Amino acid sequence: MTLPPHLEALKNEALRTTCESWAIRSRWYLSPGIERVGPCPKCGYDPKKGERGSDRFSINTQKNVFNCRRCGIKGEGVIRLVMEVRDVDFIPACEIITGRTADEPIDSDRAAQLAREAEQQKSKQIEIGEQKRRKAIRAGRKIWDSTHKVHWEPGHEIFEYFMVRGLDVRSFLARFPDALTCLRYAPMLNWAEQRADGGYDIIAKADAMVAGIQDPDGVFCGAHRTWIDLTQPKGRLILPDGPGGKKRDTKKVLGTQKRGAIRLFTPPNPRRLVGGEGIETTVSVMLYGFEPDTAYWALVNSNNMAGRALRLETRKFVQDEPDMADDEAFVPPEWCEELFYLDDGDGPGSKLKEKLTRGLRRARRLRPGLKGFIVPAPGQGQDFNDAAMAMAAEIGSGRAPAGVANGAGT
Ligand SMILES: [Zn+2]
Repeated sequence: MTLPPHLEALKNEALRTTCESWAIRSRWYLSPGIERVGPCPKCGYDPKKGERGSDRFSINTQKNVFNCRRCGIKGEGVIRLVMEVRDVDFIPACEIITGRTADEPIDSDRAAQLAREAEQQKSKQIEIGEQKRRKAIRAGRKIWDSTHKVHWEPGHEIFEYFMVRGLDVRSFLARFPDALTCLRYAPMLNWAEQRADGGYDIIAKADAMVAGIQDPDGVFCGAHRTWIDLTQPKGRLILPDGPGGKKRDTKKVLGTQKRGAIRLFTPPNPRRLVGGEGIETTVSVMLYGFEPDTAYWALVNSNNMAGRALRLETRKFVQDEPDMADDEAFVPPEWCEELFYLDDGDGPGSKLKEKLTRGLRRARRLRPGLKGFIVPAPGQGQDFNDAAMAMAAEIGSGRAPAGVANGAGT
């Protein structure tokens, strides 16, 4: 958005304040550290009612971003923070932060100085982000380099995990031996979590499937890890809840998934791409609904598939319209004539359908002539892997989880 000079100066003056210094000025109670955590300044919490929520809001002081897990306010920079917390528009937010009114005149030297400072601040922020990204990719690469080849035969942990998920890949691999080379095995991999003081706690140690994420040029950009426990119904490790009842995920990415894909299978002359969020759902469609000339890629998460939503001046998001300024989401390769996005059948309230629509609109604008389709979920609250598991059970392929087979399961 282009602003008239006096408003541009007002904005730049506001940007001299960081989210953290605004929090300090506003006397919000946040824990010390890089990630400062505390009650949400917007939705609060009531300890008298036994509510837990003293850690639902956080400010990342390095990225200058904020987030509330409950009311969902999130964004970058102090102006957005004040807009969200005080429920005001852009200009009033700048006025609140600077203590000046928008119509106050400003001399041009001062305006130029503020513009320089804002520019410096912005490039510093970008550089910090870039450094962090490179460091995470290096760490992901280190894990990837320590992994082992998967032997797709009975007895191998990853083969058995796939069998629990109803996915017997043997006949597929007999036809296409180059498929699934992006999947590797990491025995007894640590599941670690960063503490507020920057150190790490190891929460669990278990076998893991590691998938290599590739950027649009085919270069490694992240390690996607799935911790497994073959005694569980879906073969996934169950982790204890984190502080404040926070759910811990059995899937994690080290590196970046933005713009990336786990290229499960790409035939020699592809023209169609089937993209799902998860590895298991995408492999399910690859095995049970295989089509020639078609690549099957897992796109890691729905935000990568969708890209950012368009935000109007009124601050309302239009969920099914893409923000074309966002260059951090997946773009289908040039050979792709038809793009199919898998609907994972997330329950009511999830915005998955809008997100997929947005992602396809985005792809069509970036690749004119491309056709985009949503493949509807196989059933209400059911994803393609649920369907594959049911199918495998019916035809007697696949495996019951080890615990169930031993009669030890529930
Ligand atoms: Zn909140």
